[in-house]
Amino acid sequence: MQVFKFGGASVNSVDRIKNLAAILGRYKGEKLMVIISAMGKTTNALEKVTEAFFDGRKEDALQLFQQVKKQHLDTAKFLLVTQYLPCEHKLADFFTEVEWLLHDKPVRDFDYYYDQVVCIGELLSTTIISAYLNEKGIANHWLDVRDIFRTDDDFRDASIDWDFTLDKVTHGVLPLFRDHDLLLTQGFIGATDENESTTLGREGSDYSAAIFANMMDAKKQVIWKDVESVMNADPKQFPDATAIHELNYKEVIEMAYYGAQVIHPKTIKPLQNKNIPLLVKCFFDPELEGTLIHNHPIKNLPPIIVLKEKQAMVKFSVRDFSFVGEHHIGQLYALFEKFHIKPNLTQNAAISFLAVLDDKQERIEKMALEASSLFDVDVIKGLQLLTIRHFNEATLKRFTKEKSILLRQQTTETVQLLLKSNQDRS
Ligand code: ASP
Ligand code: MG
Repeated sequence: MQVFKFGGASVNSVDRIKNLAAILGRYKGEKLMVIISAMGKTTNALEKVTEAFFDGRKEDALQLFQQVKKQHLDTAKFLLVTQYLPCEHKLADFFTEVEWLLHDKPVRDFDYYYDQVVCIGELLSTTIISAYLNEKGIANHWLDVRDIFRTDDDFRDASIDWDFTLDKVTHGVLPLFRDHDLLLTQGFIGATDENESTTLGREGSDYSAAIFANMMDAKKQVIWKDVESVMNADPKQFPDATAIHELNYKEVIEMAYYGAQVIHPKTIKPLQNKNIPLLVKCFFDPELEGTLIHNHPIKNLPPIIVLKEKQAMVKFSVRDFSFVGEHHIGQLYALFEKFHIKPNLTQNAAISFLAVLDDKQERIEKMALEASSLFDVDVIKGLQLLTIRHFNEATLKRFTKEKSILLRQQTTETVQLLLKSNQDRS
């Protein structure tokens, strides 16, 4: 049994859904658990619906939701013939759920409404795709994952109730493979014990797939993406980025930590615990090798480069010439927590503390204002944070050309450099 995950980009058009069917057609007769995301940018669109509703802009919310409805109905119309009407019925039920809610006034907190609205994205996409596959002779059984994944009520960042969910998967889902080869369900969503919908955090479908893989003792998890394989850098930033065909879990966790957008970091643990290999495959061309991620050590990894743009360096200086100690650092971390700031790099000096942050202006301003009662605060913006794993001198030289290095931290495996372009005069 294998678990397949298809993200939003792999189902963002009629053609891509047809392509997904072609991929699944190659696995006929094999047992597959298929997890699918919302189509394209649907999650973002539903976020906007929720924001409008919560701001009391009911008409905007309904109007924005109307667009989501239309998109899905159009897609269903293009794809389906015999299955169109039953599918439309099912879609209508999901639409009604959201519209009822949008007609109310918000009385609970934002995150609650977010999850009730946003979860519809994956329910719509999987309903349409399931109908299409059945119509094309790829028999499948659709499941509402909210009946399987039990979570707490930490809306937008819900945690799985592992025991309850494992019981459901073992006794409710696995036996379905006796009658079906292909089970199809949603990533990213779950439900509380009171049947309220929840979400697991943006881009959470990789993680959902890993939970299934773990609980079902899958032979393998495959994430189908729009890239040839995992690369040693983001090809949008570095056109000569090269493919990496083999990685291990530890390296992937490290890459994710430094900001590489490879795989949702929560995905790794459930797979690693059961030693389940993860394969990243290209949905444009299933013949390509992709990247195999496993649990064994790998020698000779190429330099792996992660570049974070729009960084701000904040310098907190004590005013009384006392050394910066744990007391000061404790105060600063309390402020970071309060303003949801996660430093990407920190450094301690005699009378100052440096933190490199994503330049989220409003948050930094608020935090700096509050910190200014305790420290002198200076902010430098427009910086880049470059991380190179498995670095060598040639790579270092190449990436620091025409840049000033404001800060450097290094371990045997990883170097991090805070860079300022020499062309900037600010
Ligand atoms: N649809 C969700 C998102 O866009 C979850 C996912 O795609 O993994 O964040
Ligand atoms: Mg996505």
